Amino acid sequence: MNKQLEPFYPPPRLLLGPGPSSVHPRVLQAMAMPLLGHLDGAFLKVMDDVMQALRDVFKTSNKLTFPVSATGSAGMEAAFCNILEPGDVVVIAVNGFFGNRMVDIGNRCGAEVHAVEYEWGKAIGPDLSRLEDEMKKHKKVKALAIVHGETSTGVLNSLQPVAELAHAYDAVVIADAVTSLGGVDVALDEWDVDVAHSGTQKCLGGPPGLAPVTLGPRAEQVLKERTRPVQSFYLNLSDLETYWDERRAYHHTAPISMVYALREALRMVQEEGLEARFARHAINAEAFRAGAEALGMKLLADPDCRLDPLTTVLTPEGVDVNRVRGILLEEYGIEIGGGLGPLAGKILRIGLMGDGSRAANVLALLSALERILPREGFEVAKGAGVAAAQKVYAEED
Ligand code: PLP
Repeated sequence: MNKQLEPFYPPPRLLLGPGPSSVHPRVLQAMAMPLLGHLDGAFLKVMDDVMQALRDVFKTSNKLTFPVSATGSAGMEAAFCNILEPGDVVVIAVNGFFGNRMVDIGNRCGAEVHAVEYEWGKAIGPDLSRLEDEMKKHKKVKALAIVHGETSTGVLNSLQPVAELAHAYDAVVIADAVTSLGGVDVALDEWDVDVAHSGTQKCLGGPPGLAPVTLGPRAEQVLKERTRPVQSFYLNLSDLETYWDERRAYHHTAPISMVYALREALRMVQEEGLEARFARHAINAEAFRAGAEALGMKLLADPDCRLDPLTTVLTPEGVDVNRVRGILLEEYGIEIGGGLGPLAGKILRIGLMGDGSRAANVLALLSALERILPREGFEVAKGAGVAAAQKVYAEED
């Protein structure tokens, strides 16, 4: 036998990166409750509650709304592999790392993928003419895909105009709401979005491990008209639905504790109210941005498309991102993110999501940065960051 494992106790951490975000003790406690069998009537009631509460956060009446048993990427993969068959044309609007992940997954589905690239840090739209040109080029586009909240750049893309464009060409729209759901408005029925997927570990306030998905009537029709079976057993939504709806057919063993956690997280969303929750994410983002700018840092995302749950700050001249992140973690117990892909080393990513979106966290991070940055050769005006954030809060009071 190898060495006996020692007990493990996680060090105290404040998770202010791109996810997972810090989780409220109520949600953690829910995961410690006794297990039920996945077909126990008491658990079926928990599942029904989760489906209904998810419809509320997605602002949809879609019957096919439930979490798949894996993280956000599985939600994306489920959306793509159920909608697309080999040879289908999908157009993907890309302005960041997760748009590129859609391209990767689309290719793996055997689809004919056409990516329309936009500058990272800027929104897709309002001018959608390049996207429309691409839609026009093909005899039949099956789907148009876009990331709502692009976590790699801190940009929020507008879904409604993209949905309109998709429908004008008889395509369904697939939207990634991994970072947006629960933190900014996601009004699927009003915007006529056909397919959306998310993750639990960001603004919903749960741990990573489930990926809520929802499909509207156009998308359900696409599933019905498929000529080939979905290549994935695990992510086949039509089969999964037979477990989540009244048929209660065994598909795979549901991750019971994760579903408890999601239910409790959604209960907290309900208690707070969606609009109040969006307002909380907005004010804390505004305060952090004001503080970062007062410390002399610059923001990556254009002011008109900033994603409240995730702020991207350009690395100050001469500062090593990884050293700053390391000091924050080791000395202050605060985790923040670095850049992905071409932005590696160039930005810091600060997530103020779910339970982590709090004034106390904003002020703690700004004061820690104020102490760390001068050590790394970037002088800051002492006290300016916290003062600027406090001013934002004072104006709200
Ligand atoms: N899409 C977006 C916008 C994300 O931010 C992420 C994760 O950060 C994903 C998809 C993938 O989710 P996960 O890492 O939970 O698989």
